[in-house]
Amino acid sequence: MDVQRLVELGKKYPWPRPDRCLSCSSSRIWGHGYVQRYFEGFVHPLWVRRLRCPDCGTVYTLRPDLFYRGFRYAILTILASLMQRIENHRWLAHIPRQNQQYWFKGLRLQGLRFKNLPSPDADTVKEAVSRGFIPVSHSRNCAMLRL
Ligand SMILES: [Zn+2]
Repeated sequence: MDVQRLVELGKKYPWPRPDRCLSCSSSRIWGHGYVQRYFEGFVHPLWVRRLRCPDCGTVYTLRPDLFYRGFRYAILTILASLMQRIENHRWLAHIPRQNQQYWFKGLRLQGLRFKNLPSPDADTVKEAVSRGFIPVSHSRNCAMLRL
């Protein structure tokens, strides 16, 4: 995913499409307009594509894969914050502490899910990432829509 091209092309960006609906496996996925979203590092909101499955009604909001669904900070920023907390017991200086506390709390929830670990470590982060989970999600159902 080329975020710079997304900025330049806006709604003309050639978004990839999943072959099948992730909820019902229907092969009919239709365009469903665009919405504006804010992302870290960009002053203006970006247009992101929406798709809809006509068979089960699920609406997908595509997003740059440098970002997790529901999070406006870049994946690398979030992972850097987690590692800083785990290794140095500190937060990153340039990101609001509340955001970082929220991410770490999510990581703790995911760590309890995977390994029953009360205090997550670097392996918890790696394992969540390699399994395709969002390591900071507060939800149980947090597999990424990979495109
Ligand atoms: Zn469907």
